[in-house]
Amino acid sequence: MQVAAKRIGIMGGTFDPIHLGHLLAAEAAYEAAELDEVWFMPTHVPPHKTKQPEAGQEYRWQMVELAVAPVDYFHASKWELEQGGISYTWDTVQGLQAQYPNVNWYWIIGGDMVAYLPQWHAIEELMSAIHFIGLQRPGSSWTVEALPPAWQQRIIEVAMPQLDISSTNIRKRRKDGRSIRFLVPDTVEQYVKRWELYETDSR
Ligand code: ATP
Ligand code: MG
Repeated sequence: MQVAAKRIGIMGGTFDPIHLGHLLAAEAAYEAAELDEVWFMPTHVPPHKTKQPEAGQEYRWQMVELAVAPVDYFHASKWELEQGGISYTWDTVQGLQAQYPNVNWYWIIGGDMVAYLPQWHAIEELMSAIHFIGLQRPGSSWTVEALPPAWQQRIIEVAMPQLDISSTNIRKRRKDGRSIRFLVPDTVEQYVKRWELYETDSR
């Protein structure tokens, strides 16, 4: 008997730190695309960012683990951290497909990343291999119709309540001595304070 393929969403990011925008985007994707699971996968070195993350890899990983812990269909995945090097999504997808042949993969991205898709490494191969789930995000807007016709069947637009939250803004608030409560899960807020993250320079 053939087992139905699992539907797994991947939420990739630097997570410097993880915040409620990431979690709500994943929840909206899970619900609308009827996913079985969402894996939060911190990037090792993001191809598109020129600045290094401020918090070290272990801190970012632990904050992701804390944030996903309460939700049984959210998981944290070390896949890209363990691969090392620049985290090209195409490499990740090829590796995941080889290791988990009976899974359909959905790559979850916010509006800023949808706008950036044409510049992704091996984007045509990626578009044939997986689906993308795109969410709107304050500061960028996109429509499925404006995408190349061949991509339109591969990108699913999912609605979410708009949260104007970014890790950049959270890091700035910390430097300014301001609160980050209600922008990140309580456990992450406590962790950031305990390790004095984002107070001054990188650590
Ligand atoms: P930074 O400001 O450091 O770039 P960020 O808040 O953009 O951090 P990332 O880790 O860069 O977070 O983003 C990971 C993924 O989550 C991206 O696809 C991004 O578009 C998406 N994302 C982040 N914040 C939101 C949000 N508030 N609403 C919807 N999607 C979001
Ligand atoms: Mg970003």
